[in-house]
Amino acid sequence: MSRNKDLFKRARCVIPGGVNSPVRAFKSVSGEPPFIKKGEGPYIYDEEGKRYIDCVLSWGPLILGHAHPEVVEAVVKAARDGMTFGAPTEREVVLAETVAACMPWVEKVRLVSSGTEATMSAIRLARAFTGRDKIVKFEGCYHGHADSFLIKAGSGALTHGHPSSPGVTQGTAADTLNAVYNDLDSVEAIFQENKRQIAAVIVEPIAGNMGVVLPEPTFLPGLRKWTEEYGALLIFDEVITGFRIGLGGAQGHYGVRPDLTTLGKILGGGLPLGAFGGRKEIMDKLAPEGPVYQAGTLSGNPLATAAGLATLALLQRPGFYETLNGRGKRFFSSIASLFQSAAFPVAGNHIASLGTLFFGIPQAKGYADITKADTERYARFHAAMLEQGVYLAPSQFEAVFVSMAHTDGILDEVLKIMKEAVAKLWR
Ligand code: PMP
Repeated sequence: MSRNKDLFKRARCVIPGGVNSPVRAFKSVSGEPPFIKKGEGPYIYDEEGKRYIDCVLSWGPLILGHAHPEVVEAVVKAARDGMTFGAPTEREVVLAETVAACMPWVEKVRLVSSGTEATMSAIRLARAFTGRDKIVKFEGCYHGHADSFLIKAGSGALTHGHPSSPGVTQGTAADTLNAVYNDLDSVEAIFQENKRQIAAVIVEPIAGNMGVVLPEPTFLPGLRKWTEEYGALLIFDEVITGFRIGLGGAQGHYGVRPDLTTLGKILGGGLPLGAFGGRKEIMDKLAPEGPVYQAGTLSGNPLATAAGLATLALLQRPGFYETLNGRGKRFFSSIASLFQSAAFPVAGNHIASLGTLFFGIPQAKGYADITKADTERYARFHAAMLEQGVYLAPSQFEAVFVSMAHTDGILDEVLKIMKEAVAKLWR
């Protein structure tokens, strides 16, 4: 038995499904995951020594590629000085100052250890600030695995949520209302049916968790308008888009002001770190300044803040995003033209250094479109790419990420392998 297979077999005996986060099990591409031993720049190596060009990059954090020397050095240096204190440190202050300086509408920041913690805490804060219970989210957006977010729309009536996982109570589900991404009418209808009950609308300003779906030009300004009109807070979940689209995230790119912002991934430079932040008057409701409880033993961890600061320092170098986003644009446009002559439609959505190729559908403007994507065709493509040494997300509904370690030469190699895979599979 191969080493990857053997490890997966052993893993399944002691870890549910053999993985510590479900998508890693490769179920949606009907495959088995290689076990990763090492990462270096744009590459990862599995336990059998096979090299892959990594287009997942730990689902977004590694905007500099794997094991960037300056980030590694910062973490090693921090580790030598002690791993955790549970007491304030200077780096937490500098990181919060950096976030506030970069993100246009973040005045105060609280550091946490994951994206889930950030969104969960932001919702609690929004409820406390407004004195209301209900939240609105969008079908196809993901905000981590806290109970309030694991709610799907009920059939027909959009406003009645149902738990999408056992273990989430009906009571929790009743407070989460599902709207349709890029459909402002669905949002307005919910506000009208739930007057003075909605604490917040939470949205991925650029959706990344149904594959990449861009907001229509009126969508984010419309959300700002409806939330203001009905006295609810607007929360941008920028766990993926924060420091990915640019230093100011999606809010900076589109110029739309959220009340609260959640961050993760890139902010921690590959270590477990998240954050939520926003207007002072809201953030100051948090304990110990205010009554809203939120805490964490490892929050603002010295290693994580070191990795985050080293990463953000590199992102702030002149020309970083021009170069990276330029590479992304060329790469994703080339992929789109590669599929132009395929015998089936392919929708390619992209912005900056992230994108998704949706198989079998001509456009992907929202959840209704993407649910028609041909996941079986994607699975075959995924397997062919993996075989040839390109590691794509093991699900149709995820983003492809490009890092600064992905030179034009590396991206051309990916394009070449894609072209061969398409020719082999479909011509
Ligand atoms: N929000 C968004 C937009 C995400 O993409 C994710 C994770 N993919 C989360 C929240 C949750 O973050 P974490 O996995 O760090 O808990």
